[in-house]
Amino acid sequence: MENFEIPLANRVKIIVESKTLALNARVKKMQAEGHSIVNLTVGEPDFPTPDHVKAAIKKAVDDNRNKYTAVEGIIELRQAICAKFLRENELKYAPEQILVSTGGKQVLCNAMMATVEKGDEVIVPVPGWVSYADVVKLAEGTPIFVSCPEDKGFKLQPQDLEKAITPRTKWVIINSCNNPTGAKYSRSELRALCDVLLKHPHVMILTDDMYEHMSYDGQPFYTAAQIEPKLYGRTLVLNGVSKTYSMTGYRLGYGAGPLALIKAMLKVQSQSTTNATAVVQYGAIEALNGDQGFIKGRIQTYKARRDFMLEALNKVPGLRCAVPEGAFYLFINCKSFLSSKAPGGKTIGSDMDFVEYLIEQGVASVPGSSFGAEGYFRLSYATDDQSLKLAAERIAKACAALKPADVNAA
Ligand code: PLP
Repeated sequence: MENFEIPLANRVKIIVESKTLALNARVKKMQAEGHSIVNLTVGEPDFPTPDHVKAAIKKAVDDNRNKYTAVEGIIELRQAICAKFLRENELKYAPEQILVSTGGKQVLCNAMMATVEKGDEVIVPVPGWVSYADVVKLAEGTPIFVSCPEDKGFKLQPQDLEKAITPRTKWVIINSCNNPTGAKYSRSELRALCDVLLKHPHVMILTDDMYEHMSYDGQPFYTAAQIEPKLYGRTLVLNGVSKTYSMTGYRLGYGAGPLALIKAMLKVQSQSTTNATAVVQYGAIEALNGDQGFIKGRIQTYKARRDFMLEALNKVPGLRCAVPEGAFYLFINCKSFLSSKAPGGKTIGSDMDFVEYLIEQGVASVPGSSFGAEGYFRLSYATDDQSLKLAAERIAKACAALKPADVNAA
């Protein structure tokens, strides 16, 4: 066969594959080969999709809902989404302001493709979800990383936002509850960010509310457009059914925003994937309109798991983890191990080395550097108690075997 080098586009060369998904795939392969690894890499609920949602999807299959739908999603679903926004977020949208997409990730892609031009800047607070920066780069934009330090609860500070805004700023991304840190913005914290944004009328705001319901502090959830109606006309709200309704594999997310933006995003989607899977749209109607009672029980379970892991890992000399208010991740400081030596003599020079070492010891996680913060690792605790217990034991044992570890350096 002739050797042919595929001439890749620069836009592909400058992005990286999602680290979380890549690590997840690698660990699954190792598990299939017989290795005992607790996989805490990927952020997806271990709970099944609720029965009433599954029944709606099955019914849609039996009803032969096998045709293309409107690109933007069927009207009943968009009405259900409007009702959800009104009920839970005090936000009023018309169905025309809603675009249903193949997962929340496609909402982000559509928005960036529809609005970002070469040289445009998008403010990405870090630590932040792995996809923001690379999707911005795919759209030929420039991600501007703004550090949200641990001692500020991993939250974007108004003065840092102010400093990062330039005439080229197109978007700022706000993610609450945050992946990977679990940070949840209070009303007053969001208010302070809104005040900065009011001074810069050329900046659009993308609020990623995917983890809205995964909140453990007993406080209400707020989103920016709800707090400051003057920002409504330049805010895109991203949400979806993936996490709350355990539907990650079904791939359904949605965006709500100003009509002109949604229309442009729809145009992009109409030339890429067309509509989100028809039968899943019927399931999503049931998810949003149906009984919400089960969510509370699941949140209590997540909270108990969070508390268990926090207690277990904060007891490990050299590890430190602040209490995350939401999502289902722990973002753990492992800086004190960064110059230590593993039993075989290998130096742990980076958080990636630390994560590799933990994989060898039977626990898979994601390095903080892939979220823009070196010296941390992220664990997803959306898994069963037994696995979490085993993971905590293995991590404690693995850390104890690292030498010399200046446990007071973090
Ligand atoms: N936003 C955040 C913060 C996420 O962590 C994720 C998924 O991990 C998404 C959006 C995308 O969700 P979906 O699976 O619906 O594409």
